[in-house]
Amino acid sequence: MDYISTRGSAPALDFQGVTLAGLAPDGGLFVPRQWPRFSPEEIASFTGLPYAELATQVMLPFVSGSLDEATLRDLCHRGYGRFAHEAVTPLRQFDQQHWLLELFHGPTLAFKDVALQLLGLLFETFLARSNDHLTIVGATSGDTGSAAIDAVAGRERVDVFMLHPKGRVSEVQRRQMTTVLAPNVYNIAIDGSFDDAQAMVKRMFGDTAMTGTYRISAVNSINWARLMAQVVYYFAAALQLGAPARKVAFSVPTGNFGDVFAGYVASKMGLPIERLIVATNVNDILHRALAQGDYSTGTVTPTDAPSMDIQVSSNFERLLFDLGGCDGSAMAEQMRAFEASKAMRLSHAQREGGAALFTSARVDAAETAEAMRWAADRCGELIDPHTAIGLHAARRAAIDSHVPVVTLATAHPAKFPDAVERATGMRPALPTRVGDLFEREERYVELPGEYEAVAAYVAEHATPSSA
Ligand SMILES: *Cc1c(COP(=O)(O)O)cnc(C)c1O
Repeated sequence: MDYISTRGSAPALDFQGVTLAGLAPDGGLFVPRQWPRFSPEEIASFTGLPYAELATQVMLPFVSGSLDEATLRDLCHRGYGRFAHEAVTPLRQFDQQHWLLELFHGPTLAFKDVALQLLGLLFETFLARSNDHLTIVGATSGDTGSAAIDAVAGRERVDVFMLHPKGRVSEVQRRQMTTVLAPNVYNIAIDGSFDDAQAMVKRMFGDTAMTGTYRISAVNSINWARLMAQVVYYFAAALQLGAPARKVAFSVPTGNFGDVFAGYVASKMGLPIERLIVATNVNDILHRALAQGDYSTGTVTPTDAPSMDIQVSSNFERLLFDLGGCDGSAMAEQMRAFEASKAMRLSHAQREGGAALFTSARVDAAETAEAMRWAADRCGELIDPHTAIGLHAARRAAIDSHVPVVTLATAHPAKFPDAVERATGMRPALPTRVGDLFEREERYVELPGEYEAVAAYVAEHATPSSA
C-alpha cells in the first residue's frame, strides 16, 4: 500500500515509511492512496474472531509491502495481550438502543493505548530492519504522554522525551508517566504551560542542529498507524451488533478528530455505518465546521474533559482532503489560507460529503454532568466526562430507534475522579492493576521553560541516528 500526503507535494511512502515519518515533509498528513474495501461476505466472515485476529484481518491491506500476515498477527497478539479484558474492547448495553464500547482496558486507562501499544511494537520492528534509532519528543497535557511512555518503555532503539507543564497535569496523569523507570524514558517537567511545551517540541522538529543528528519523531495522532489501529474496534462493535446485515451508529467524544476519522475509514472499507456523531465540549470548532461550514479557531476554554480542549483538529485535514476529491494542491492552498487567517470556510463538496455521514453536537458542562448522572442512576455505570459528552450527544441525536448507537468510552472514570464525584456523588476507584500508583517511585527532571535547556538535555541523552 502506497501513502500520499494531503498537501500533494511529498513523495509517496510505504507503510513502514509513514509509520517512522509521522508528518509528511510538505506539512501534510499521510493517507492511503485508495481505501481498501471488504465485501459484505468478507465482513460477515470476521464474525466471532478474537480481537487480535480481527485486527490482523482489518489492518492487513494497509500494511501490505511492509509486513506479512504472520508478522502482523504476532504484533497484534503481543500488543493486545496487555489489555486487562479478554475482549480488549468490550461492549456493554445501556438500554434498548444505547451501548458503550469500553476502550480503556489498556495499561494507562484511556483509548490511546489501543493504538500506541501497537505503534511501540511497529517502531521496534521497523527500526531493527534499518538498524536505526528513534528519538520521540512530545508534549502532553494528559493522556497521550502516559500511553506513549508505556508503549515504548524498555524497547530497543527508541528513547522518549515527554514534556509536561509542571504542576498542571493531574497527579494520576503525572504518576502514570513519572513512575515508569525504564532507562529509555525521560520525563521533563517544564516551567510553563502546555502551549509553551508544545511550542518547544515544534521548534525542535525544525531545528536542523537536532534533526541532522537524531531521527526525531512524534507519537500524536497525525501518525497514520494510530488511526489504522483504531479502525478495528468499529468493526468489532458493529459485528457484535449484527453488521454487515444491520447498520450501526457511533458517537465519538472528539478532540483532534483521530478517533472519529477511524470510523470514517471503517465506513469507506465497507462497514455499514448509519451515522458518526462528532461530540465536542464547548471548544466546538468541529461542531461549527460540520454544522455551518465555519472552521475558525477561538481561545481554548478549560473543561472537565481536558483531552478535548483543543483549538485546531489536526486530523480534520484528512477528512477535508478526502471529501474534496483528494486534490493535494487545493488542500495545500486551503490550509495555507487557514494558517494565515486562523479561519476557513468548507467548500460545497466538503459540506455535502460531511453531512452524508456525520452529525455533530456541542455539549456543555451541565449536560456532561447530567449524562454522568443518567449512566450512574439508570444503568449503574460510572463514566468519565469525555465519555459523558459522547453519551449526551448520542441520546440527543435523531437516529432511527432500530439502529443501535454505540458511544465510545474513551477513558476510565478513575482517570478523572473529581469530576465524576462532583456529578454523581461517587468516587471511582482505580483498577487494581494500577492500584499501587501512589506508592511507586517517581523520576523526572525539572527544566526552565527555555528551548535551549530542553534541546541540550535531549542532545545529552539521546542516541544519534545511524542513517
Ligand atoms: C485523546 C482523547 C479524546 C479525543 O480523541 P481524538 O482522537 O483526539 O479526537 C477523547 N477522550 C479522551 C479520554 C482522550 O484521551
